[in-house]
Amino acid sequence: MLKLLMTRKLPDPVLEKARETFDVTVRDNTQPMDHEELLSSLKDYDVVLPTLGDAYSAEVFSAVPHQRCKLLANFGVGYNHIDADAARKVGIEVTNTPGAVTDATADIALMLMLMTCRRAGEGERMVRAGRWQGWHPTQLLGLHMSGKTLGIVGMGRIGQAIAHRAHFGFGMTIKFYNRSPKDVSFPAEQIDTLGDLASQVDVLVVAVPGGAETHHLIDASVLQKMKPHAHVVNIARGDVVNEADLITALSEGQIAGAGLDVYEFEPEVPKALTDLDNVTLLPHLGTAALEVRTAMGLMAVDNAIAFADGRPLPNAV
Ligand code: NAP
Repeated sequence: MLKLLMTRKLPDPVLEKARETFDVTVRDNTQPMDHEELLSSLKDYDVVLPTLGDAYSAEVFSAVPHQRCKLLANFGVGYNHIDADAARKVGIEVTNTPGAVTDATADIALMLMLMTCRRAGEGERMVRAGRWQGWHPTQLLGLHMSGKTLGIVGMGRIGQAIAHRAHFGFGMTIKFYNRSPKDVSFPAEQIDTLGDLASQVDVLVVAVPGGAETHHLIDASVLQKMKPHAHVVNIARGDVVNEADLITALSEGQIAGAGLDVYEFEPEVPKALTDLDNVTLLPHLGTAALEVRTAMGLMAVDNAIAFADGRPLPNAV
């Protein structure tokens, strides 16, 4: 039997499915693997199911000259923690779990949009602290989101699911910026530059993959173009947004608020952010629902089984 390592505990049906084909080891730690664990994962297992934070860099691959591992079946669509080019160079294939995450992550984006526009975090903190003295007509007035203009940065699977919800559910006008030209099945206008998009929208949602190409894509130059009543939401990867520039924009009133599911130096969240009232902070909840995590795990295991059977990998990256 081929040996498979799950680098985190996954839902039971995923483990059961994997055990039908593999001799499975489940790592008993919720933190990303350290350097030594990364090296032994490549030496001791045929297949690894890694996830967010398991940093398979080019240095890790070159530190293990004769890898037993031939497949990294990533749990998650985002795989910016794996240097996939370096993996391929040493004969290791990489797969991910596209599609399984789309609706759940789009839902979280809509939640963050509403929470930041309607100041839900501030209100919740006020109630919990016993500071609420009752309803009055000018209390906690936020941005009325219905009918406003939404800008999507990265009109892929998740970007389109967000836009679809916002257009049909909230009557929002959709504009977007994307690396390549994109036709979508609902009314939406592609804008040529990110700066132009930022200047035209009431809410800007970031939905591009992480990695070198998108590092600090949203920085001071983009934030300064936004309207002072506008909000930024990031459900992509933390380092797509320059966090220091975002903190400046939020504290100086260049923008009205932000909703974040991800952080530049995750899981570190700077005090400058937690001190601000006009930012909603979630602990990377994008796909955090049991059926979604199960579907992601089964998809990763399907890739592993295809590898074991010598079939083409369904979700090679
Ligand atoms: P996807 O379908 O591959 O969509 C990505 C989109 O971004 C594509 O349309 C792509 O354009 C565009 N893009 C890539 N680089 C760009 C750039 N430099 N400038 C402008 N546009 C660019 O991926 P997805 O399934 O929607 O997932 C997107 C990301 O969301 C994932 O990679 C992951 O990091 C993140 N995510 C987060 C959570 C969470 O828990 N918060 C959950 C799931 C996913 P092209 O058309 O040119 O390819």
